[in-house]
Formats: sequence, C-alpha cells, structure tokens
Amino acid sequence: MDTKKRLNHILEVLSGQGNRLTPQRIAIISAIVEDDSHPSVEKVYAEIKRDFPTTSLATVYKTIKLLKDSGEILELEFGDEGSRFDGRKPYPHPHLVCTQCGAVIDSDMENFDEFINKMTAESGFKIQGHRFDIYGLCPACRN
Ligand SMILES: [Zn+2]
Ligand SMILES: [Zn+2]
Repeated sequence: MDTKKRLNHILEVLSGQGNRLTPQRIAIISAIVEDDSHPSVEKVYAEIKRDFPTTSLATVYKTIKLLKDSGEILELEFGDEGSRFDGRKPYPHPHLVCTQCGAVIDSDMENFDEFINKMTAESGFKIQGHRFDIYGLCPACRN
C-alpha cells in the first residue's frame, strides 16, 4: 500500500470539494491512512494528540465524517464496541476479527469480488454494499 499516494488522493478529493485542509485535518487523515490496524476514533485521537495537543475529539469525528461523506473511508460498526475505520481501502472488503483482543485484519482473498458478483448474478439482487467478517482468534491470542 502506497500510503503517500493514498493520502494525496484523499486530499485532492477533499480540496476539490472545496474543503479547507488545515494542518490538523491533514495530520488526522494521514494518521488514519498510515494506520493499518483499522483504528477507532479514540486511537486516532490519541495519535494526533502527540503532535497537535490542542486537537479535540470533535475535530477527529468531524474529519472522519468528511471522509465518510466523500466515500474515502470504510466504517466498520461493532455495536457497543464502537466503530473501526479503514482509510486505506474505502470499499467493502472481507475482514478477520479477533474476539479476544479486537484486532481487525484485512483478508487478502483474491476471488472475493468474483464471489460477490456470482452471488449477485444468481440472486438477481442489486447489491448496494456488503459486510463480511470472520470471527476467531488472531495468531497472538491463540498462543
Ligand atoms: Zn487477538
Ligand atoms: Zn480493512
């Protein structure tokens, strides 16, 4: 994943929509794109606080909302556990979720789109989105 390219793409999209890109906002988006752990809002906030101590949690929420409205981030809702975000791959893709530590890992299943397309074709259903999670124990929690 070329995170620099991904970040530039997002910044282009947002500024193209007339959004103001403050250094704080850019730092938040950068932190999200750099983090491959599907961070929560709180984790992004903690990360940002180190360089921008005056940042509020509301600013992080607002920036994520902006990314959501532009279709540049994928939100994975986990009920009471809160949401996790993928700023690297904003489109639906399968995830492996650890039931013990809460790790969310991308699954690189190559034929996944083919699988979805086949399901769509057979059902006659017009798919608007999908969510595919596999639950289990991550390698660290298994030991
Ligand atoms: Zn785990
Ligand atoms: Zn993901």
